[in-house]
Amino acid sequence: MNRISELFGSMSFNDDVMRERLPRDIYRSLHKTIEEGRDLDSTVANVVASAMKDWAMEKGATHYTHWFQPMTGVTAEKHDSFLSPCPGGKAIMEFSGKELMKGEPDASSFPSGGLRATFEARGYTTWDPTSYAFIKDDSLCIPTVFCSFGGEVLDKKTPLLRSMERVSEQSIRLLRLFGITDVKHVFATVGAEQEYFLIDRDLYNRRRDLILTGRTLFGNRPPKGQELDDHYFGAIKPRVMAFMKELNEELWKIGIYAKTEHNEVAPAQHELAPVFTTTNMATDHNQLTMEIMKRVAQKHNMICLLHEKPFACVNGSGKHNNWSLNTNNGLNLFKPGKNPAENKLFLLFLCGVLKAVDEHQDLLRISVAAPGNDHRLGANEAPPAIVSVYLGDQLTRILECIENDVDYTEEKAQNMETGVHVLADFQKDTTDRNRTSPFAFTGNKFEFRMLGSAMSIADPNIVLNTIAADVFQQFADRLEAAQDFETELKALLKETIHAHKRIIFNGNNYTDEWVAEAERRGLLNLKTTVDAAAHYTDEKNVALFQRQRIFTPSEVEARRDILLEHYNNVYNIEMATMLEMAHQEILPCVFRYNRQLTDLMAAKQQTGIGIQDTAARSLIETLTELGNALHERITALEEVNAAFNGMSDPLQKACYCRDHAIPAMAALREVADRLELLVDARLWPFPTYAQLLFSIDS
Ligand code: ADP
Ligand code: MG
Repeated sequence: MNRISELFGSMSFNDDVMRERLPRDIYRSLHKTIEEGRDLDSTVANVVASAMKDWAMEKGATHYTHWFQPMTGVTAEKHDSFLSPCPGGKAIMEFSGKELMKGEPDASSFPSGGLRATFEARGYTTWDPTSYAFIKDDSLCIPTVFCSFGGEVLDKKTPLLRSMERVSEQSIRLLRLFGITDVKHVFATVGAEQEYFLIDRDLYNRRRDLILTGRTLFGNRPPKGQELDDHYFGAIKPRVMAFMKELNEELWKIGIYAKTEHNEVAPAQHELAPVFTTTNMATDHNQLTMEIMKRVAQKHNMICLLHEKPFACVNGSGKHNNWSLNTNNGLNLFKPGKNPAENKLFLLFLCGVLKAVDEHQDLLRISVAAPGNDHRLGANEAPPAIVSVYLGDQLTRILECIENDVDYTEEKAQNMETGVHVLADFQKDTTDRNRTSPFAFTGNKFEFRMLGSAMSIADPNIVLNTIAADVFQQFADRLEAAQDFETELKALLKETIHAHKRIIFNGNNYTDEWVAEAERRGLLNLKTTVDAAAHYTDEKNVALFQRQRIFTPSEVEARRDILLEHYNNVYNIEMATMLEMAHQEILPCVFRYNRQLTDLMAAKQQTGIGIQDTAARSLIETLTELGNALHERITALEEVNAAFNGMSDPLQKACYCRDHAIPAMAALREVADRLELLVDARLWPFPTYAQLLFSIDS
């Protein structure tokens, strides 16, 4: 066995380990729970717990933790040791089924959006056996879901698991109509490509904005940015390579299939793509990937920035959520096959997704709403805030033919001629790549590209699974009741295409023409988190979540408030950080340089040399003017900040932030960035963009 296959999964309590270590009947019963979504048998838990503990202790673990995903978007853990006291001052190592199944962390400090008053602080975590336990930092981590004493959902995992169940149930109903009856479960699968920046740790430590907010709040555009396109897929620098190697090994150990890595468009930007797995595990794995990226970077004296827009002048970071539906026996429901025009099963699922995306553009947009992501969406580097679907020419033509009752005549797949004899001509892909679409069909999956780099992928996948389930349910209801399946199917496809073709767009989504065209088509353009969040509690959405048993109406409201409160908190921190930096670092620096110039002028005058120092004089004038402007804008932002802090309604506060705070921050930054260009570089209080972006040079 080579080293990698020995390493891979060595810290994961995965299927192989379970098969090896659990009695056959226990293994089988647990497997049924995992594969078929059966209820968990509590007697199984004791045996599994004991096997898990033995395995973990052999690997050096001393503690265990229920690992969960509260609504903060990051993960939480509380460690307990396996140690259990026994008479005579001794201790034994214990871990019971009860401890595996249920934990009780203090829930009071996690956001609940008003669902759980702090005096009812009790919250419970419950083992989720569909994601493998793993060892991290000498602790056995048990993936769990998190809910309140009253049963309200307080995490991102519970609704995700529910949505996976729903989409599975409804997909199975549709499959049965096609005579496919042996499918026990349909898995929503995801591969999440992750973008990130790496910068030098010493430089990072000298920027309060990076430390406190994850992004630069000041910084003039550097002479060189990404315009030469020399970084994308470029050779990876040795220091970054060493980081990637260690990162891969750490990920492989806990069973994360990190596969592809390359440099991205912006300098210092990189990407990691894993091999896809179930949505549930992909969500856990993406959280772990982000955490481990940060930790490994530190070991290499670098900082991994996961913020969506760390630097104003170069591309920000996103995440691509590749989503598909696969049966337990290996059929991909979005596989067009050799003859997509005749593949009715594929066409039905495809049209279901079109309808779902068109009807719930708002929810998809909401699911990727975050203050950081607002800097990207629609900024000519990421898909716009407008949701549309890319299908490619061939599929679009097939759908047109169905809509208009015309036979589709297949075009021959074209050969790409390379024009070089030693290179074989290769067949052109029928779905060409389109990098600008927010939701692209890419052969046998959909790539949802609006996600921000720092966010949990749970929310977008909850929405994807839920809206797909809801439409599949409508389809199944109608088709099951049909007199003649074939006729009804044909009519259903035709109607669906006619009603929802407006969501298909194969052109360049980054252009202004598309924004205008989308408006003509009546598509939503929810530009900011605030605009999007306002729609969360629309009747349509509350009804959908309730119908699909994902959230109760009060849980939807809570989630909206948490989204807005997070937005407001982020901006509050950013405003305060800006004010500190401007007051304590930038203004004093301007005064210092001005003083140096004035001293210089005075010294010159004493020498009696007759030549006027026009350079110094004009610089003093400009610096004084800009210094005054900076001060004015500091005062203006202080006033805005005070007004903002005086408000309490989250939506009103967020609107005020969007309309007043953000412009005031931009105005302050504008003057500061001009000053950066004029002041002696040795005096400027923090590292510049050029230093940050090109700091990893070997
Ligand atoms: P890109 O061109 O965007 O880099 P890739 O072909 O490299 O796309 O694949 C991107 C991601 O899609 C990978 O994480 C891959 O595992 C994932 N993927 C492939 N097939 C599926 C599927 N059936 N379901 C979910 N994700 C998938
Ligand atoms: Mg991609």
